Amino acid sequence: MSDCIFCNIVAGKIPSAKVHEDEWTLAFMDIGEVNPGHVLVTVKPHVENIYGLDDRHAAAVFQTAARVARAVKTAYAPGGITLYQANGPAAGQTVYHFHLHIVPRYDKDGMRLTWPAKNPPREQLEENAARLRAAFD
Ligand code: 5GP
Ligand code: ZN
Repeated sequence: MSDCIFCNIVAGKIPSAKVHEDEWTLAFMDIGEVNPGHVLVTVKPHVENIYGLDDRHAAAVFQTAARVARAVKTAYAPGGITLYQANGPAAGQTVYHFHLHIVPRYDKDGMRLTWPAKNPPREQLEENAARLRAAFD
């Protein structure tokens, strides 16, 4: 996709600060980092979001993510690391080429994801699970 920022980064047409590259994935610094060491792991082919990720690329993304997380831990010794991954506008996705954020975290660093837990009754959870089992491919 010639007008996709991350396709252009993968192709080397737009510069990026690369951390790691293999056959399936590229890891590079997020231009809008939340904290130093904030890395994006992307897949090389143009895949908009998680719905289009095949098993090989899904596995490769998490392998790279684990390696990057260990490097972040060694290099920055953060208080923690958050993995963040958005699909679709309601989830906050702004670049429509699949990517996973690896964000080093510190106390009071200002990053927030509010989590309005509903704690539904068990029967509701069973119903939700059944609905998903029926939708599984
Ligand atoms: P999203 O909101 O889709 O989860 O994340 C997109 C991320 O891509 C943002 O955190 C943003 O800072 C980063 N980003 C957008 N354009 C560029 C770019 O040209 N280069 C790099 N390195 N990161 C980018
Ligand atoms: Zn792309």
